[in-house]
Amino acid sequence: MRLLVIEDEPKVGHALLEGLQAEGYEVVLAETGEEGFFLASNRAFDLIVLDVMLPGRDGLEVLAALRKQNMAAQVLILTAKDAIEDRVAGLDTGADDYLVKPFAFPELSARIRALLRRGKPEPVASLRIGTLEIDPVTRTVLREGLRLELTVREFELLEFLARNKGRVVSREMLARDVWKEPGRATPLDNVIDVHVARLRKKLDDPFEGKLLHTVRGVGFILSEETS
Ligand code: CA
Repeated sequence: MRLLVIEDEPKVGHALLEGLQAEGYEVVLAETGEEGFFLASNRAFDLIVLDVMLPGRDGLEVLAALRKQNMAAQVLILTAKDAIEDRVAGLDTGADDYLVKPFAFPELSARIRALLRRGKPEPVASLRIGTLEIDPVTRTVLREGLRLELTVREFELLEFLARNKGRVVSREMLARDVWKEPGRATPLDNVIDVHVARLRKKLDDPFEGKLLHTVRGVGFILSEETS
């Protein structure tokens, strides 16, 4: 089970991270609403623990935006004591449960178990391009039914290209969204090109039709159509 904790207070966030990891969950911590939104939009989680009081983009805004994208994860919001309106707004926005701060960890843990039992979220659809099939949950990649062994980075690169299939993806986008580097730098361009070349070797070289195309001077595109 993969959990995302979105909490800006480092002490609380790290306590939750460690506590939940100790219970056997795979946990990712985001310390801003923006970061949490990005992670939840790009990776599949079973459940999100979402603090409502976040600086900048607050928890309810993040939740509304995620539900708008039909994000399927269960969401448990953390609200401040006495902020009844937050709880109501949270449930209206698509939260599955809430917990009032401060709370005892065993209670949080029990709520999470109950939520995970209650609703098996909709399976995340696999991504298909021609004979390529990517399962974002199990992170398996098949082409013509054969499993491709990709590194973590190659998988992330391929998944990003697949989510943008038919669209040109620039090196700037890859630097920002796959390598998480805000500014484009020449050395990173080289790194990206090396990874694209390795990915192409596994993805296209052994097969008839080519899927990963270079758009000269612009970037890359994953598409069935040959250019
Ligand atoms: Ca907070």
